[in-house]
Amino acid sequence: MVTADEIRRNLDAVRENLAAAAAVSGRKPDEIALMGVTKFQPAESILAAFERGLGLFGENRIQERESKSAALAGIQAEWHMIGTLQRNKARRALAMFDCIQSVGDITLAETLERIIGENPEETGFATPYPVMVEVNVSGEYTKQGVAPEKCFALIDGIAVKCPRVEIRGLMTIGPLTDDEHKMRDSFRTLRELREEAKKRFDFSMRHLSMGMSADYAAAIMEGSTMIRVGTAIFGARDKRL
Ligand SMILES: *Cc1c(COP(=O)(O)O)cnc(C)c1O
Repeated sequence: MVTADEIRRNLDAVRENLAAAAAVSGRKPDEIALMGVTKFQPAESILAAFERGLGLFGENRIQERESKSAALAGIQAEWHMIGTLQRNKARRALAMFDCIQSVGDITLAETLERIIGENPEETGFATPYPVMVEVNVSGEYTKQGVAPEKCFALIDGIAVKCPRVEIRGLMTIGPLTDDEHKMRDSFRTLRELREEAKKRFDFSMRHLSMGMSADYAAAIMEGSTMIRVGTAIFGARDKRL
């Protein structure tokens, strides 16, 4: 396991790289939020990062996040769901997370809408509840995200049918490649989709959630406002994912 000391050093290095990539593209580092992605990482690692000032985390699985709840009860942090979410787990996701970034179809959005509307006093779910629309820009991920050409239809559907759901931005996973041009093409496509969506819809679309350990510098150069970094902070995970 990676020690707390290594996590602190890794986190400092990622912050430096973030600032350097921001500087190269004439942006301010504080325009770019850093999320620590903690799937398959133990609660102790999360606490070490929290103590170093990290306040935003992402997990991919409901059950895994729930299993860490007790150990993390003492920390005040923001948690986002970034993995594929099945409708039958939507209620648990709403209870565990402050934002669901992985909304890729209208049926999931409608399920969220229905549950949020049930009994707000009792559930305490934020209304409107923040989500992001996940776009499968690279076309490589068969089960994740909406196709770029269907993205506006989905946003329109949410705008019309889901008044309790607020789209805060777009999210994507970059292509599996070392080719920096391909990375940047993908991230640029997401940025352009967001520009167009801002014109067409009433949502703020503040966030472009893009960039992971291998490609966050490229994502920042294309306008990312939130990078999601796992391995580069917490070390390698179990190979299952
Ligand atoms: C795992 C994961 C990340 C982080 O990946 P790293 O390569 O470890 O930085 C970011 N976003 C999503 C959606 C993920 O599933």
